[in-house]
Amino acid sequence: MSATDEVELFGFVYTHNTACILCTHVAAGEPVALVVHDSDGDISFACARSAHDDAEFKVIALGRAASIVDFSQLPHLDEGQQAERTPDGEWRIGTAA
Ligand SMILES: [Zn+2]
Repeated sequence: MSATDEVELFGFVYTHNTACILCTHVAAGEPVALVVHDSDGDISFACARSAHDDAEFKVIALGRAASIVDFSQLPHLDEGQQAERTPDGEWRIGTAA
């Protein structure tokens, strides 16, 4: 496996084809406001909208998400943690919902 097959996120290394969930708004270029690394290891990214329908989420490869979201700007998150971006641009880390 070459380095390009790996994606670094939250301080972990994943394979490029690891599945993650993105809201369609983030997929369209809106900033990420909520990142969840849940206790099952699932990873999701959402924008600042408070409500999303199921239809507004899609599963994509983490390697593709890395070309949409700047992972280097995201905080370290253990499994079971999430981070919410505050209005001043800081990340507030808490327990995944
Ligand atoms: Zn959204």
